[in-house]
Amino acid sequence: MTDRTNQFASLADFTPRAADLAAMRQYLHAHPELSFEEQETAAYVAARLESWGIEVTRNVGGHGVVGVLRQGQGGRSIAIRADMDALPITEATGLPYASVTPGKMHACGHDGHTAVLLGAAEYLARTRRFNGTVVLIFQPAEEAGRTSGAQAMIADGLFERFACDAIFGLHNHPGAPAGAILTRPGPMMAASDTVTIRIRGRGGHASRPHLTVDPIVVAANMVMALQTVVARSVDPTDTAVVTVGTIHAGTVVNVIPETAELGLSVRSFQPKTRLLLEQRIREIATSIAQAHGASVEIDCEHGYPVVLNSEAETAFATEVARELIGAAQVSTCPMIPGSEDFSYFLQHKPGSFLRLGNGERSAILHSASYDFADASLPVGAALWARLAERFLAQP
Ligand code: ZN
Repeated sequence: MTDRTNQFASLADFTPRAADLAAMRQYLHAHPELSFEEQETAAYVAARLESWGIEVTRNVGGHGVVGVLRQGQGGRSIAIRADMDALPITEATGLPYASVTPGKMHACGHDGHTAVLLGAAEYLARTRRFNGTVVLIFQPAEEAGRTSGAQAMIADGLFERFACDAIFGLHNHPGAPAGAILTRPGPMMAASDTVTIRIRGRGGHASRPHLTVDPIVVAANMVMALQTVVARSVDPTDTAVVTVGTIHAGTVVNVIPETAELGLSVRSFQPKTRLLLEQRIREIATSIAQAHGASVEIDCEHGYPVVLNSEAETAFATEVARELIGAAQVSTCPMIPGSEDFSYFLQHKPGSFLRLGNGERSAILHSASYDFADASLPVGAALWARLAERFLAQP
């Protein structure tokens, strides 16, 4: 370690505060709130930030809370985001700090993400060894699906009201050692879209098919042809999924129905592939319907986009993580087929989404026996503190 790196936050600054961090995390864990209902969580976060002298803005995009720390004359600014919402699951951990509300549970570790950012905020507010602006974003409704908290905060003028040069966020990662850090430049988590294809033929008697346009035959043709989208249109070095998850048509065997409907789950890791998939699905469905004299209506419902980490910010975060915990504890994250609304922030600002190990024996995310690993809290908080200090120290 050189003198230059010694002036920044280290793990040793946070290990003595491990118990405080765990107490905050376990309080949040016991009091989970679902997407769009994070009133008490937001109040807790805002009160903590204010108690450390941090300027707080409430109700940004719903229950979003933004804390701002300014120090010195530096013109640079960095945003760090944590999500706050829980899931409609009844907890089965039996832990002393388990959810007090049946049917609500922090089963994705957002309690940990919030505690980690609070820990960094407290440290930065106390030590003030940075030059510039740190924007602390506590986001509601990550689990919401279509109209998520990230979109709501952006629509509420987040980046106009709180300028930042780059944005960072993290998610815990079951399966990786507690306190390990995983990074990945470029696409990291999938875009997830839903496509509904409604076929309209001409119904009639099963014994007189020549007088009908059979939508079941049209649908069957489409199911098979859709298998070529990934196999024949997507670059083999890229990856994507087109799954026909539902098919509905007909009521009795002696009637050819009027309509058939297909439901597709579509996942991709590149914005251009996402567009390609939609385009090919539309072309295939439309031309097959036309070939059979049927008509078709196609709805594409966009879920969260690809988490697309920018190269420079990911390299920077990886370097900071290595300084903090040693290169052996920092690895390349595999691509994750799940999705995450941090992707919307990355459509507006350069930045990087990281993963923080939650233990090799951790229960999987969204399971009733999941728990955030408190052993990861000092690492997460130290990472954010050092990342902020280092980012703002750059020319
Ligand atoms: Zn999550």
